[in-house]
Amino acid sequence: MSTSDCLFCKIVSGEIPAEVVRETDTTVAFRDINPQAPTHVLVIPREHHPTAAALASADAGLLAAVLGEAHRVAVDEGVADTGYRVVFNTGAQAGQTVFHVHAHVLGGRGLNWPPG
Ligand code: C5P
Repeated sequence: MSTSDCLFCKIVSGEIPAEVVRETDTTVAFRDINPQAPTHVLVIPREHHPTAAALASADAGLLAAVLGEAHRVAVDEGVADTGYRVVFNTGAQAGQTVFHVHAHVLGGRGLNWPPG
């Protein structure tokens, strides 16, 4: 499942380039084009689902696969021991701008709480 006007579906298909760091049969992880930390990687399912909430309803196993990949990215990036954050912005008020579900993996610096 994909939508022709979705930016991240185009990254999955290779139509738009991205710096891919990990791939599985069901997920792709690539560096955020506008990094907010020394490590800032996005993990997405290949299938189009607009939000984490929608994916939780449609296919909770795929959501778990995305989360598992997020933690593998943290290990690969060397931030697993020092600490890192996995964020799903869900909905416009939470700051979601691309409506193809993605986990942000952020690390490599101190991260404030609460987030802005
Ligand atoms: O959570 P939100 O929807 O705001 O995150 C979208 C993310 O996608 C942003 O961090 C933005 O920098 C990133 N992006 C990207 N490559 C693109 C377009 C957006 O990494 N071509």
